[in-house]
Amino acid sequence: MDKIQVLDPKALQELFRTPQKVVITTHRSPDGDAVGSSLALNGILEKQGHDVQVIIPDAAPAFLSWMKGSEDILDFEQTPEDGKRAIEEASVIFSLDYNRLDRIAAVGEHVKSSKATKIMIDHHIDPSPDFDHILSDTSASSTCELIYRFADQMGWLELLDKDIAEALYAGIMTDTGSFKFSSTSATTHRIAAHLMELGLVPDRAHSAIFDTSSFDRLQLLGYALSRKLEFDPAKGVSIIALSLSEKNRFHYQKGDTEGLVNYGLSIQGARMAVFLSEELNMTKCSFRSKGDLDVNVIARTWFNGGGHKNAAGGRLDMKLKPAINYLKDVIENKLDA
Ligand code: 5GP
Ligand code: MN
Repeated sequence: MDKIQVLDPKALQELFRTPQKVVITTHRSPDGDAVGSSLALNGILEKQGHDVQVIIPDAAPAFLSWMKGSEDILDFEQTPEDGKRAIEEASVIFSLDYNRLDRIAAVGEHVKSSKATKIMIDHHIDPSPDFDHILSDTSASSTCELIYRFADQMGWLELLDKDIAEALYAGIMTDTGSFKFSSTSATTHRIAAHLMELGLVPDRAHSAIFDTSSFDRLQLLGYALSRKLEFDPAKGVSIIALSLSEKNRFHYQKGDTEGLVNYGLSIQGARMAVFLSEELNMTKCSFRSKGDLDVNVIARTWFNGGGHKNAAGGRLDMKLKPAINYLKDVIENKLDA
């Protein structure tokens, strides 16, 4: 199913008429859409007097820390006990920008056993049925766009202000590759226009996210492009693979390789780009594609992951070298099969 929407605004309007204890969760390795949607919803609910806690499974990159409310986000990896308590006490739990509880690592088991009303708002394929209310639309550019739609359905649009607009814009901008991916619709632009009317300044949001690189980050980008990029013109596949020690050489910080995979897709004739990034006990895999080549299926079938048709991710419980061999075997034998 491509598009499902079984959220019941009337029942939820009734629920939120009295003060609720709300926990907002989002996916591991939170990105702009994950943090933006969480903070925007946090702002909307706090304005109505609800008690809200945003929980992320692990740290978010520093370039997302300028948004209002980011200082109050709870990192479950750092303070699991506080996180568990908040989930235990919650009467409502939101799941934003993910649709299966295995996407939130250790947070998942606590959410699963909670008796709270569970609301999922997301734009990934194949939502699991672990939720009471689901707003899922795979054609939406971003979860932030869906938060805007949710606010509209709930009659909460007048609560939006400049801070909430900044968070929504950050997620829409990052998930659409600055309004260039095919998921960008006329509605996406209409929402962006409304956010500007609320005081959002696009170039400031853009700068806050994209013009905060360290010197090391650019050196790592240069190294990856000049020394590590491989391209197979026959297959139309590019690969960049970075080991832990290579990343450490450039004092790698979380977020430093964000966007790196996209360079491989900009080569003429490329139809898929892969980025492998070695971590302590596994190798993280990122996939991007053009047109009909479905990297969600590839990530789901062979890399323990998923995502969207043209942007997906996964992980291999291997060091970098065997992961590269495994990837090349899949490309050689499975890609066009
Ligand atoms: P990225 O390559 O930027 O990490 O992720 C690209 C897309 O794939 C995002 O939409 C993200 O939600 C999804 N994704 C990334 N890693 C995983 C994963 O391990 N499992 C699943 N199911 N999706 C992932
Ligand atoms: Mn998203």
